[in-house]
Amino acid sequence: MQIFLAKTAGFCFGVNRAVEAVYDHAKSGSHKTVTLGPIIHNQEVVNDLMSKGIGIVNALHEIDDPEVTVILRTHGVGKKIYEILKERNLQYEDLACPFVKKIHHIVERHFKDGWQIVIIGDALHPEIIGINGWCEHQAVILNNIEDCKLFPSFEPQKRTCVVAQTTINREKWDFVTNFLKNTCTNIEFFDTICSATNERQTEAAEIAKKVDVMFVVGDKNSSNTGKLFEICKKHCEKSFLFDTAKEMPVLDLSNFSVGITAGASTPASIIKEVIETMEEQLGQEGQELSFADLFENSLVILNTGEVVTGTVIRVTETEVFVDLGFKSDGLIRAGELTDDPAIRPKDFVQLGDKIEVFVIRVDDGEGNVLLSKKKVDAIKGWKDV
Ligand code: SF4
Repeated sequence: MQIFLAKTAGFCFGVNRAVEAVYDHAKSGSHKTVTLGPIIHNQEVVNDLMSKGIGIVNALHEIDDPEVTVILRTHGVGKKIYEILKERNLQYEDLACPFVKKIHHIVERHFKDGWQIVIIGDALHPEIIGINGWCEHQAVILNNIEDCKLFPSFEPQKRTCVVAQTTINREKWDFVTNFLKNTCTNIEFFDTICSATNERQTEAAEIAKKVDVMFVVGDKNSSNTGKLFEICKKHCEKSFLFDTAKEMPVLDLSNFSVGITAGASTPASIIKEVIETMEEQLGQEGQELSFADLFENSLVILNTGEVVTGTVIRVTETEVFVDLGFKSDGLIRAGELTDDPAIRPKDFVQLGDKIEVFVIRVDDGEGNVLLSKKKVDAIKGWKDV
């Protein structure tokens, strides 16, 4: 059996950041913390956090303890939620993904200027409900072109601003935007599909095309996992979606090639269990697989002196941390960002930014990859001379 594990399987940067922050709250144990809705679509993680004292509320009116800290999850929330938090003087940590917050800003700005807002996506998804909350819930929400009929308020002649749910597939975006281009007279499109989603879906399709069996690991309630499964099924008839290793279908895979991908809310521990279960099944037949090998193979390989692109995952007063898809995070010290010592990291980059960096050292002795942004700019400068 040959196994292809997607490099993009598992937590995206937004989910990773949120889950880590909630675990930090659980560890500190200083005061009561609740998430507004489950932090991610993964029951195992949610149960684990609950066992560590993190509660869940579905609405702010369920909170009667003024000392509680409310965690806003990656999906983001509408403007009204921030107003209520302020009115009630509740402490909160906003872990809405920066990519989702960018959509809130686009929608709020255009709505204020009198534009009609169109959101492409699933009207019932919390991310869309949150986005709609930045235009007084007046958006026209299209999951397909027939949905236009559900919105008598839709005015094709009005100035129209179009955004997308971050996890929709590109085919849907192309299909609906083509229809809108031919229908509306004055329209501006903001392609807000998250690049992590795009990369995950593209890689899943590529793997699904070449394997006999495709496993999609993730929660069935997760929108991005569901879409990933749809894509895999299109290219590989024998595609299976399951939450954990326990639900994995029992198949004789000894003569098959198997692809594995996972949704953005699937922790590495569950992917590991799936591979280990396959390992056990095949071990009985005298074949060997090593999770460590597969995991290592699924990671990006870095070399000193390379220029690579990563995503900004944390910014402090003196450092910027970058996800490179490598086993360790990258670190840019303030002095390696720019030649201008007056510029602080927070003024230079924001969470979720894509950034091109030069690899100074793959391991700084403390498990970080040392990076430089100013070296990339210098290289570009030399090329331009
Ligand atoms: S927008 Fe992208 S990076 Fe952010 S939480 Fe969603 S899938 Fe993850």
